[in-house]
Amino acid sequence: IKWTEGRGWHDAELVPYAPLSIDPANMTLHYAQTIFEGLKAYKQPDGTVATFRPEANAERFQASARRMAMPELPADLFIAACDALIAQDRAWVPDSGEASLYLRPFMFASEVGLGVRPANEFLFMVIASPAGAYFPGGVKPVSVWLSEEYVRAVKGGTGAAKTGGNYAASLVAQAQAASHGCDQVVWLDAVEHRWIEEMGGMNLYFVYGDRIVTPELTGSLLPGITRDSLLTIARDLGYTAEEGRISTEDWKRDNENGTLTEVFACGTAAVITPVGSVKSERANWTQGTGEPGEVTMKLRKALLDLQTGHTADTHGWMHPLG
Ligand code: PMP
Repeated sequence: IKWTEGRGWHDAELVPYAPLSIDPANMTLHYAQTIFEGLKAYKQPDGTVATFRPEANAERFQASARRMAMPELPADLFIAACDALIAQDRAWVPDSGEASLYLRPFMFASEVGLGVRPANEFLFMVIASPAGAYFPGGVKPVSVWLSEEYVRAVKGGTGAAKTGGNYAASLVAQAQAASHGCDQVVWLDAVEHRWIEEMGGMNLYFVYGDRIVTPELTGSLLPGITRDSLLTIARDLGYTAEEGRISTEDWKRDNENGTLTEVFACGTAAVITPVGSVKSERANWTQGTGEPGEVTMKLRKALLDLQTGHTADTHGWMHPLG
């Protein structure tokens, strides 16, 4: 779907996947006016296909657009575009289990020009790709690197938007994490470098027995849809679920004194991933037993059962395609 100043959204079309031809002076290539989303379509037990909370993705896409001086795509168009692509690619929706059809809606400036200003022409597209189970060999805890040198986002910056620049800025820290033998980066706040924000592509939860806590939305971390869903699912299961502030010192101390029983990350791709060990320039510890915890696995099953249609959709989160 195209957007042009004065004309709005127009020319929606469903076309076979193919490379785009880009002008060297395309504004996105220079000024990174680009946003995206990620969501999954799961085959349901009755053979239908459904996406999980696409309205929430549409809403976050609009919030990202506002932050990046881009036009807002109406939620019904966002969802209709996803639905049309899934209907076309229905044969590619995997049959069962945790496998899904991953959808990547995105928008970028399609105008050509070298002056720095918001563009007047944009292109919204959705691509789809089958995604296997994230942990085909069973859930495996990840090791994380606390990034004390780099920050992902600052107050007033673009941290709460799902925009390419955030990910570009995080790559060097991801490489640093890998060089220390870690799977993922954990970002800290930009002012004191001690408050836990989120992981490279996932939000974090801290399990204190039957109380689970996730870092509050400070404006510099992404408001994850999985994070939000788990606040509700955890309460449904009888846990206390809340937003709060957790520092690196809290994490280390509470793990040592045994009150912090489990830590996990959550996001569309992996659903829930246990955190098994933590490293930084100054510290190195095993989280809990280092193995997937009971609460982590219980929440993971509850969310996946809901997404794959094995439990009742009591919150009206599933969007069926018929
Ligand atoms: N934080 C970041 C930086 C992410 O890229 C993602 C993935 N979209 C998340 C958190 C988790 O968000 P969600 O649960 O909506 O996938």
